[in-house]
Amino acid sequence: MEVKLKAPAKINLSLDVLGKRPDGYHELSTVMQTVDLYDEITLTQNDSGAVTVSCDYEGVPCDDRNICAKAAYRFFDYCRLPVSGVHIDIQKTIPTQAGLAGGSSDGAAVIVGMNYLFNTKLSPKEMLDIGERVGADVPFCMEGGTKLCTGIGGTMKKVPSLHGVQIVICKPDTVSVSTAEAYQKVDALAKHPCYTDEMVKALYTRDMFTICATIFNDFELALQIPEVNEIKKIMLGCKARGAGMSGSGSAVFAIFTSERKAKQCVEALKADYPKTFLCKPIKNGCAVE
Ligand code: ATP
Repeated sequence: MEVKLKAPAKINLSLDVLGKRPDGYHELSTVMQTVDLYDEITLTQNDSGAVTVSCDYEGVPCDDRNICAKAAYRFFDYCRLPVSGVHIDIQKTIPTQAGLAGGSSDGAAVIVGMNYLFNTKLSPKEMLDIGERVGADVPFCMEGGTKLCTGIGGTMKKVPSLHGVQIVICKPDTVSVSTAEAYQKVDALAKHPCYTDEMVKALYTRDMFTICATIFNDFELALQIPEVNEIKKIMLGCKARGAGMSGSGSAVFAIFTSERKAKQCVEALKADYPKTFLCKPIKNGCAVE
């Protein structure tokens, strides 16, 4: 038996790192949004007795280090089932090391797909519990939509959705960000008022001007990546309503209310940055196709 799932990317409309906790984790406050840029995951049951992974995207491990394999083991463990044969094929479109949660979304899709394949009838809450054990962004990727996420990422609250806009996403090839280094630099930033609080208010009042003006990311501020600044300049030059880096980078996104201008922006970026995508916000997370 086989099941195919779509695993969407996310962007962070705002991301405030509130501080480091005594246990070493960082408290975040962020508004996340899923977009229609997808990896495709295919799960196939077999009688090998093992979890195997295939993926043709450079830099993605095809062994137990893959988030999808981790998710499958967590699923068996949670359901108290013996590990049985399943092959996970990942067709990647979401760039890696981009802050777009590609890996987390793949992992979320595996949990949803395993529940389907093994007919375990887990509730959404139970699947979120497994997701939390796989990674901080996994529960959000499972639910998707527009959510305020706080704590170390796992506490989610639905907020009014962002819709009627076009989103251009661009990932420069030359930069890869180490998450540890990113957090170190963020820790050295001066304190400032929380942009995410403002973003949530703007979403409730559906104030597009303020939403776009409130796009903010502490990692962007701390890392000051030249390519990110260059891409933002091009996006804003194409009349984006607002632009910013996603997660710990290095992908950059821009919001447009005109489809024509968004398409022009993709054209303006594509030659220098082949990993440029035209997307729309979506209301869901991982789902069986
Ligand atoms: P996030 O927004 O969650 O920080 P990201 O966009 O920065 O995500 P990922 O795409 O999740 O980064 O990948 C980070 C690294 O994780 C990759 O370079 C790769 O080595 C490893 N990895 C493990 N499993 C996967 C997977 N299924 N897809 C992508 N990367 C994976």
